[in-house]
Amino acid sequence: MEYRTGLGYDIHRLEDGLTLTLGGVRIPHTKGCVAHSDGDVLIHALCDAMLGALALGDIGQHFPDTSDEFKGIDSKILLSRVSGMIAAKGYHLVNADIMLLLQKPKIAPYVPRMRETLAGVLGVGIDRISVKATTNEGLGPIGHEEGAAAYATVMLAG
Ligand code: MG
Repeated sequence: MEYRTGLGYDIHRLEDGLTLTLGGVRIPHTKGCVAHSDGDVLIHALCDAMLGALALGDIGQHFPDTSDEFKGIDSKILLSRVSGMIAAKGYHLVNADIMLLLQKPKIAPYVPRMRETLAGVLGVGIDRISVKATTNEGLGPIGHEEGAAAYATVMLAG
């Protein structure tokens, strides 16, 4: 058995009147992420961590934002494809730890559904998926509600 770790990061601008989808869960809010896809920073960071663990490049390489195929796409589909790439290499996800940076709204009420959703897409137990969230204490672009960002680390085994 070989173990591999991976790191992912993503950030998107927030704008008024767009839908906010994080961790595959639609969150009622006045702002949403500007993106070619549905702008789910949390899933994008997770995808990059999984790809990184096996040195498979990054999400932009596999799902280019210039392609019509990925315009407005549900990021759960991207995650499912990345999961397939990992499986094709003979690996499976041991665990993921994801950190969301968002000033508003409070994310805690949505965390259980996010974990459940991600675990469902990845076909693993919910106890293997950690989602945490923090504000940026009002500091910088994230603190000023201009953006949302996420970090993810994963461990794969195969
Ligand atoms: Mg992104």
